[in-house]
Amino acid sequence: MSFEALGLHATIVKAVTEAGYTVPTPVQAQAVPAAIGGRDLLVSSQTGSGKTAAFMLPALHKLVSAEVAPAPARTPAQEAQSARSRGERVRFTAAKPKMLVLTPTRELALQVTTATEKYGSYMRRIRAVSILGGMPYPKQMQLLSKNPEILVATPGRLIDHMESGKIDFSELQILVLDEADRMLDMGFIDDIEKIVEATPATRQTMLFSATLDGVVGNMARRITRDPLVIQIASASNRHENISQRVHFVDDLSHKNRLLDHLLRDESMDQAVVFTATKRDADTIADRLNIAGFAAAALHGDMHQGARNRTLDSLRRGQVRVLVATDVAARGIDVPTITHVVNYDLPKFPEDYVHRIGRTGRAGRNGLAISLVNHAENMNIKRIERFTKQLIPATVVEGFEPKRSAPPARTGARPGGWKPGDGRSAAKPGQRSFSKPGAPREGGYNREGGHNSAPRGPSSGAPRREGSSGGYRGSNPRSADGARRSFGDN
Ligand code: AMP
Repeated sequence: MSFEALGLHATIVKAVTEAGYTVPTPVQAQAVPAAIGGRDLLVSSQTGSGKTAAFMLPALHKLVSAEVAPAPARTPAQEAQSARSRGERVRFTAAKPKMLVLTPTRELALQVTTATEKYGSYMRRIRAVSILGGMPYPKQMQLLSKNPEILVATPGRLIDHMESGKIDFSELQILVLDEADRMLDMGFIDDIEKIVEATPATRQTMLFSATLDGVVGNMARRITRDPLVIQIASASNRHENISQRVHFVDDLSHKNRLLDHLLRDESMDQAVVFTATKRDADTIADRLNIAGFAAAALHGDMHQGARNRTLDSLRRGQVRVLVATDVAARGIDVPTITHVVNYDLPKFPEDYVHRIGRTGRAGRNGLAISLVNHAENMNIKRIERFTKQLIPATVVEGFEPKRSAPPARTGARPGGWKPGDGRSAAKPGQRSFSKPGAPREGGYNREGGHNSAPRGPSSGAPRREGSSGGYRGSNPRSADGARRSFGDN
């Protein structure tokens, strides 16, 4: 199967070929022809499956072909300019996009916009802009005044512009909800309903979500007509190329020393370390910088500009260790991320899956390590039930926990990490949790020669209650099916 065989316009095939894509991914192979044919789609797939191209390629195809009327020769901004030159009073003319992509986060929206520019690089008439919270309004007004064909937006900011008459959806032809489950989790349901209501009933709707069950499934059925349902269970969905491990730690000092050691693994190219709180993300990034790592924090308290700069530095390889809250659990697509470390476990098993998906991108192998204390064993079990995969407990020589591992954890099967892919730091599947002996004091490790004890405000301090992101209550969903909280990210 080739991209030509999917029926795509030659300019799009040229652009994806230049991007290095030779074969459509399974979700693209199923979604593209159906979408070109005008079908609504309900797609269950994750980031990493190639889902952005699955909706953007057919949309671009439709925008360049005769089915969608070409953009007017003059943009509203040009019309306004000539009216002004005739001495007429000019009011802002609302943008009339042909396509709208709704995403849960600014990061994902920017990524979709970048991908659109890549796939549409040979189309002169198509412009895609991001409308995001955190971006200055004048800048957005300027973008909207160019009457872009494609808007990629987060729901809240889009509603602001709709309510102030800056956007008119009467000509909208294609609506995409990307990571719809995540948008609902974030409480955007009312905004989404309002936005959908403002679009013509004749639109084509494509909804992408990790799951099509429950609340998201109900909404999906309400807003689509006779949709083609595509369920993708690819290797990357099951994260078969990502080796997973648990390392048990006795206390925070043990955890910090082990983290330092893991980040000095020679096979580590770049890593994302997930924390439960924004404060910990900052503190740990500071501490790692002092210890000589090129580390940076990323969390929801940072301005969008700072977040973008940090992500750019990560993409350019200037940041080797990103210390982040769950704001980074989805959307970041940097193929050189070899390691994900759960410094704190996520609140919800779904987020574990999204977090570890930051590594193992573009067909590479990845390593996901969770640093947990024994009290968190139940949370690991919940993740295992959710992923239907066992996460082996392993011990790093010189960093053995004082307490032996819970019995169910010993002898768990090792993951699929290949020799030379970063396994050297630990002994997967090792059964020696009962090995007594205190962990080495200070931050020394054999390979790295890191001799200084961890510094910084968090090291050695007793961990405050609840900050490890543990599960609260047995059912993380509230009665209406929405998740209670995404906590402090
Ligand atoms: P996504 O699931 O849209 O986040 O895409 C994940 C990654 O796969 C991105 O880096 C894309 O550039 C890449 N990708 C998408 N489609 C293909 C393809 N057909 N061949 C190779 N890489 C692809």
